[in-house]
Amino acid sequence: MSDTNTTRCLIIGSGPAGYTAAIYASRANLNPILYEGLQPGGQLTTTTEVENFPGYPQGITGTALMEDLRQQAKRFGADLRTGIITAVDFSRHPLEVTISDGSKLLADTVIIATGATAKYLGLPDEEKYKGMGVSACATCDGFFYRKKKVAVVGGGDTACEEALYLSNLASEVYLIVRKDYLRASKVMQRRVAEKDNIHVLFNTNTEGLYGEDFLEGARLVEYRGLPQERHYDLPIDGFFLAIGHQPNTEVFRPYIDLDEAGYIKTQPDTTLTNVAGVFAAGDVADHRYRQAITAAGSGCKAALDAEKYLTELE
Ligand code: NDP
Repeated sequence: MSDTNTTRCLIIGSGPAGYTAAIYASRANLNPILYEGLQPGGQLTTTTEVENFPGYPQGITGTALMEDLRQQAKRFGADLRTGIITAVDFSRHPLEVTISDGSKLLADTVIIATGATAKYLGLPDEEKYKGMGVSACATCDGFFYRKKKVAVVGGGDTACEEALYLSNLASEVYLIVRKDYLRASKVMQRRVAEKDNIHVLFNTNTEGLYGEDFLEGARLVEYRGLPQERHYDLPIDGFFLAIGHQPNTEVFRPYIDLDEAGYIKTQPDTTLTNVAGVFAAGDVADHRYRQAITAAGSGCKAALDAEKYLTELE
């Protein structure tokens, strides 16, 4: 175990990236401390069944998968702690972080694996049907909507990608776009237009969702606020949010280089950030793949990068 307020390796975040980094760092004798944050287990704990993580031929629930990774990290001695990081000082070495209980911790290396949070519309119904028709990940949950009707909200590349993915599973896909155009790249727009079972509903907003136990439909409004405003119900079994993700990086902004969307910039083919000894893994540095397995892979890389950094330092 590490001393309570110093460590050779601090890992922030408890998704697949954080726990995998903890497994590798522990086995490399770095005695890591991992802060689990507000949502131990991360985004996967909000999905139901995970069927695309290698090694689980029968599938596994998101919560069980994360508990397995957590136990594996504990088995090698990772010091898992509850709390969030409220401030950092990366202008000095050792690197300093402040924990939510007000205490401070000094670390030789920091692996940031704080993930990203899918944006939701903010409708009360989204909470009500989460996991029962409402999802923010087509790759995770699309399989459950084979031959069913689904809607995707958003007009960017993610929304088009999710709609295209779902169009190969679902019978009909409605793309709900609030403007009269798609923001997505031309190539994505063309692919969407070429699919017979994707129906783009322009100038449309979602006002609510309905259904007995599971989702049965969405209440939509077309041309809101205009003379031709029209309200109608769209029967669907699945409602997918694709209006963007917010990387959880605010606390690092004063020191760490971020791209325009707030994701951490890493040096090509590594997990190195602009600050020596600070590494980034998982969705916090990846707006492109955002899969549990890719996050786990980058968590492994971050631990190896941290170990190499410490070896070279010593
Ligand atoms: P974007 O920010 O590009 O698009 C978000 C979409 O959601 C926009 O159409 C936006 O509408 C809509 N939206 C936002 N808030 C609301 C709301 N409250 N109600 C209804 N609609 C809303 O996010 P993406 O996740 O699509 O993409 C993020 C970045 O990742 C982009 O740079 C994208 O190009 C990139 N990306 C690249 C991919 C690839 O190259 N294969 C795949 C996926 C993403 P509006 O247009 O009206 O603002």
